[in-house]
Amino acid sequence: MISKNLNEILQKIENSRLQYSPHHVVKLLVVSKYQDENDILEAYRAGQRSFGENKVQNLKQKMEKLSMHPIDFHFIGSLQDNKINQLISLDISLFHSLDSLKLAQNIDKRLKRDDKKLNALLQVNAARDDRTGFIPEMVVESYQQIQQECSNINLLGLMCVGPNSIDFNTIDKSFAITKNLFDKLAKNGASILSMGMSGDYEIAIANGSNLVRIGSKIFDR
Ligand SMILES: *Cc1c(COP(=O)(O)O)cnc(C)c1O
Repeated sequence: MISKNLNEILQKIENSRLQYSPHHVVKLLVVSKYQDENDILEAYRAGQRSFGENKVQNLKQKMEKLSMHPIDFHFIGSLQDNKINQLISLDISLFHSLDSLKLAQNIDKRLKRDDKKLNALLQVNAARDDRTGFIPEMVVESYQQIQQECSNINLLGLMCVGPNSIDFNTIDKSFAITKNLFDKLAKNGASILSMGMSGDYEIAIANGSNLVRIGSKIFDR
């Protein structure tokens, strides 16, 4: 079942990206936050290699249990200060949810102490809802400030969670705002635009997303 869903999603991603541009490449991150190791393994056997988790403790357990497989894990949840050390020790491939300057400074301090680097995306609160993240007018300035002050954080782009809405225009607008900011940051080296989940990934790709994070549509929940 998982492999069938995976293939369906991959086909839809393929269609969406071709409509955007034949040169546009979109990566799929499978969000396994409500799944166990066996579900991850099933997707792995179907060819999937990148998985996203939103709790440090669960991430650690799954990484340990799956350590013999060449899987890369991403962190997509909001990170509390008291979990920073543990997250850094896990050597993830990308942290999607850098949502405040204070968090960036705290992470960078621990990275410097441990002589480590962390790939990260700045989280944008494009819909100005109750979610965390940088409001649009702060994004470019904060991105540059983090690049200058937090030298052990490798900023690679932006992440946006679409608004909690079923209205196409509301979702479309949030993604367009984020894409516009992403384009402004191209000269700062931004290359990853993480937008789109099960309910809105096609709208996200139409707005230039190159990394979609999909859970429920893969695992049938
Ligand atoms: C849970 C989650 C996803 C996946 O959501 P689905 O609707 O299950 O596809 C993507 N991004 C973030 C930040 C999440 O927390």
